[in-house]
Parts: sequence; C-alpha cells; structure tokens
Amino acid sequence: MSTKKRYKESDWGDWKWQIRNTINDIETFEDVTGIKFAAEEKDELSETLNKFPLAITPYYLSLIEVNDFRNDPVFKQSFPDVKELCVEPYEMKDPLSEDEDSPVAGITHRYPDRVLFHISNVCSMYCRHCTRKRKVGDVDYIPNKDTLLEGIAYIKEHPQVRDVLLSGGDPLMLDDDYLDWVLTQIREIPHVEVIRIGSRMPVVLPYRITDNLVNVLKKHHPVWLNTHFNHPREFTNASKEAISKLANAGVPVGNQSVLLSGVNDCPKIMKKLMHLLVKNRVRPYYLYQCDLSEGLTHFRTPVGKGIEIMESLIGHTSGFSVPTYVIDAPGGGGKIPAMPNYIISWSTNKVVLRNYEGVITTYKEPDSYEPIFCNRKCDECVLPLKLDEGQEFEAIGVNKLLSDYDDTISLVPEDNERHLLRESY
Ligand code: SF4
Repeated sequence: MSTKKRYKESDWGDWKWQIRNTINDIETFEDVTGIKFAAEEKDELSETLNKFPLAITPYYLSLIEVNDFRNDPVFKQSFPDVKELCVEPYEMKDPLSEDEDSPVAGITHRYPDRVLFHISNVCSMYCRHCTRKRKVGDVDYIPNKDTLLEGIAYIKEHPQVRDVLLSGGDPLMLDDDYLDWVLTQIREIPHVEVIRIGSRMPVVLPYRITDNLVNVLKKHHPVWLNTHFNHPREFTNASKEAISKLANAGVPVGNQSVLLSGVNDCPKIMKKLMHLLVKNRVRPYYLYQCDLSEGLTHFRTPVGKGIEIMESLIGHTSGFSVPTYVIDAPGGGGKIPAMPNYIISWSTNKVVLRNYEGVITTYKEPDSYEPIFCNRKCDECVLPLKLDEGQEFEAIGVNKLLSDYDDTISLVPEDNERHLLRESY
C-alpha cells in the first residue's frame, strides 16, 4: 500500500496534521514503508539519532521509491546514514562561525547591510546534510518571544541593516499569527527595506503554503522567499501549487540547492532541476558546495564536480537558469563564487576568451579609456552620481493623451503603413 493510501485523504493536505504525524523513529519508518533494516544497522542508525533527530513528513516520505530506496534522493536526504557517525578531524560543529558573529541571541550579523534572524530552530523534515545540525532540532532552544524581541531591538538599533533574512530551522514552522507578529515588528523598522524567508516547506511540506499564509506574507511586502529543491523528484503537483501560490502573491521565490554526492552530483540531474525551477517561476539562486559540518563527508563532492556542473549549464541553457556556485568560506568569510575559467589570456589591449562551445575569441579593449581618478570627493565628481530613485515627471502613452498640459491627440507607431503612405503622396 502506498504511504498516502494509509492515511485519510482529508488529513493529507492539512499541514498541521502532517506535522503531528511526522515520522520520528526507525520503527515507524519501517512500519509505514515496509522497509526492514538488519538489527545491527538499526542499532547504528539509532546512534545517529542521538546526534541529529529524524523527522520526515508523511508527504515527503511518500516520495521515496521504496523498491530502490538506497538510491533514492529523498531517502538519502531525509533518512540517517551510519556514515554520519564518522567525523573527520577537519569537520566542524559550526563551520561558518555563525555563533561567533552573533551579537545577541538569534542574530548573525556578518555582512554590513543584512542580518540573519533565527526565529525557529525546528523543521518539519530534518535534512541529513543540514549545516546547522548543532542548533536545529534542539527543542530546548526554541527562541521565545523575549528572545525575538531582543533580535528585533538589535535590528532597530542598527540603521545600516536594510535586509533581514528570517531563518532557522524553518521560520514557517511558526503559525500564521505568530509569523504575522514577527513580520509586523520588522516591517515597522523604517530602515528595513527587504524581508527574506528561508524555508524548505514548499519542498518537504507544500501544504504549509496556505491561502492564509500567503495573505499574511502579502501584507508585509517586499517579502522574498528562498527554498531548497535538490532533485527533480521533489517536484509534485502539491509543490508546484505551493510555489504558484507564492508567486501569485508577488513573493519572488529563489532556490538554493546543495551539491550532494549520490543525490544530484550529475550535470543531467542539475540541468533538469534548473529547468523545472524556472518553469515553475523559481529563480535558481545558489548551488552550494556542501559545508564542512560534522558527519557530512559522505555527502561531499570535490569542488571539481561543481565546476563540471557549472560548465554544463553556462551557455548551454538560459542565463537565468544558472545558479551561482558558491563555497561558504569555513570560519565565516561568506560565500565565495566558483566558476569555470572563461578568460584564457589578457594583454594591455586584448582579452582572449573561450565560450561554452570551446570557441576561442578576442575582445579588443578601448584605446581611449580615461580612468576617473577617485579621491572620494563625490561632490566634485563628474560621474552622474544622482542616486535618488528616478521619478517620472512627464506623462507618456495613454497617460499623455489624458493629461491637461499636452495637446497630443493621437499616438501613432513610427512605421505605421497608412501614415508612411500618406507621407509618400
Ligand atoms: S530545512 Fe534547512 S534548517 Fe531545516 S534541516 Fe533542512 S537544511 Fe537544516
């Protein structure tokens, strides 16, 4: 019997029911899927759960191909592997040093104009490759309202913060009213221009994207959302509908994939994934090299695999279907883009480049370029430094016909045949 058929149809699409029925132990997983593990493997698997909990929503579990589960991308991302117990000396609890860049609980302030705000540390599905294993899933560390208020106060006190990224855990684990409260508090801060949400819900529990939720998000625009599809198999009617709801509500949706050995380390899989994303109005944003978090060695690929994948995408498909491949610098240096080399050589007046087909070409540099000497005295600079947003002060199009100050009575395209004929008489 398929996983879905074991449950009542009316419950299946209810996200709270899915959370209540999340699979948290190996016995229930065996029971629901019919997969049986040998006693020795089960003991080792249980050990992995002491380090990082198991949680799979019935929805996400239903995507596992039970007959070939060991090769299944959904199984590999959600079910523990005994290899997680192997921690290499160079692996770290907090490889991105997020805790070191944390001025108050819940806030990571690394880049000058933006902060990461951890408003939840639980998720509906725990990704085995999660980089925040040290925090995520720790139910003793769920930020309460007072902690959130401290974070909000920090943002208020730092006028340089124009972009707030709500993260976790999964921020959409908060219910709509609570999320509305957090968004209202942040939106009231005048210097915050953009709010972003990082959530894997569209992938692992798409029923969380309800009409009520998108109405809440709509109230606080501009709100962006980045999600985390890693494999084409994660696209279902339900996940497509969830994305569509977000896009229709004016929420720009981006995707951050992680390059994972045995899951998506193949140019063909990645190209298909990117095409599915853009077809469903999701912009591929980042492709992450897997971080040096403890117990993730079995998931990591050499950087060369990422470069090979980028080589297979750039030029071979539309530019907006190509994510930026990044390595998040261990120790907290931020994301560093990694690309195949396209510049072959360079002289003072010519650059030699190659394209995706292997065509080698030259680009002639300008002979007459006069660099502007910059002494940081912008008031004296000749460059057009008017950085205020532009304002239309003249009506065009139909608006022009409607205006009182312009006596134009009709608008005629330049190449209108009837007018051209008239002019030829
Ligand atoms: S959804 Fe994100 S935070 Fe949660 S387990 Fe997965 S990667 Fe970690």
